[in-house]
Amino acid sequence: MAQLQSTNQFIKPITTKINERGNLEIGGCDVVDLAEKYSTPLYVIDEKTLRSICQDYKNAFKDYEKTSIMYASKALCTSAIAKILDSEGLGFDVVSGGEIYTIYKSGIDMGKVLFNGNNKSVEELDLALDLGVGRISADNFLELALLDEIAKSKNKTVDILLRITPGIECHTHQYIQTGHLDSKFGFDLTQIDEAVDLILTQYDNLKICGLHAHIGSQIFETNIFPDEIEILVKEISRINKEYSLELDEINIGGGIGVKYTDEDEPPSVYDAGKIIIEKLKHCIEKYKINPPRLFLEPGRSIISTSGVTLYTIGSSKQVPKGRKYISVDGGMADNARPSLYQAKYYAQIANSKKDAETEEVTVAGRFCESGDILIENIVLPKTEEGDILCVFNTGAYNYSMASNYNRVGKCAMVLVNNSQSDIIVSRQTLEDLVSHDVIPDRLK
Ligand SMILES: *Cc1c(COP(=O)(O)O)cnc(C)c1O
Repeated sequence: MAQLQSTNQFIKPITTKINERGNLEIGGCDVVDLAEKYSTPLYVIDEKTLRSICQDYKNAFKDYEKTSIMYASKALCTSAIAKILDSEGLGFDVVSGGEIYTIYKSGIDMGKVLFNGNNKSVEELDLALDLGVGRISADNFLELALLDEIAKSKNKTVDILLRITPGIECHTHQYIQTGHLDSKFGFDLTQIDEAVDLILTQYDNLKICGLHAHIGSQIFETNIFPDEIEILVKEISRINKEYSLELDEINIGGGIGVKYTDEDEPPSVYDAGKIIIEKLKHCIEKYKINPPRLFLEPGRSIISTSGVTLYTIGSSKQVPKGRKYISVDGGMADNARPSLYQAKYYAQIANSKKDAETEEVTVAGRFCESGDILIENIVLPKTEEGDILCVFNTGAYNYSMASNYNRVGKCAMVLVNNSQSDIIVSRQTLEDLVSHDVIPDRLK
């Protein structure tokens, strides 16, 4: 049976086409017009693509009613994005006070928020409790103690999950593996009992609801989820029996991959859904537990495909007997991934280049690091200064990892849909860049 395609399996936003002017069009907007109107570099988010992947997830898991899809905000956290995902019925996985506050200021029900992280600060835990964050995924012994103390001081009981390290390795980049045994995240399986004991005997203000794991990111093999589910359900069943508890929440994290280039073959969300639900139902029988609530935390696969980045091409350089570089007006400060972990991207010239000859080039960023290369060896039409380059699949971990390196302001972000474009993050100005600087009196 042909498996249903899901939106994360496309390189480009689903509304991408070439319009009658021969220019690239996304969300009904001429991309060259967007570059002119809002300047470059520019992040563009296609609302239809974003809503489409949310629908994919919801449809893929509709056979397991007790599923909650918690968007991993760290992939891209802005108020407008939060609004869209909230309207699609998603919850939010957050990892900092900043993300908590963003969701809160967007007017979203904080009960739908889950707080993750391996070193949450006292201030962040405090904020989470004050703003009514629904769940906290406790990562370590220090956090349990801190959280109980803070909860006690506020006369509150906190619903927690225990983040565990299931000891599963996935074939992805070492920096984005998280579930292997030697990981900085979560309790080792051998530490679970001590944690549960402490919660039951000493930490009166903590209520354990279930277990949580997250294996890694940019995962292409769906067959690792069943292994993870087996470990989680087995542990839940064991804990429930040994401690007479009723843990009924299982959080399997995120990690489903996307298609940055033709080499990537991410799984269909429908396929993943089928495998996950089948395995979960099987384990519910096998380990005799009540059907738990299933939490998923997709980040990249929700937001990546809907985003592109537009750049203006500037100088170029033909190395004698070497390669040709074309430089763009952004780079590692707006997209750290190529220099951080050799991530690959696909790009296209957005303005009409009918009949132009093609050539192989390397796309260089404008930042002062030799490693600031966005794309190595890509075939493009022969470009000239002023052409607009559109890099695809930049929705996830681009803006969220952006820096002000070289004292360059962060780019603006626009949302496109039905031929309309709206700013959702404004461009940082020169004034913004100096606004946090302080000159002590003695230097004045
Ligand atoms: C990063 C992270 C996610 C999201 O991962 P993606 O690969 O973006 O889907 C989910 N859960 C946890 C705990 C994470 O750290």
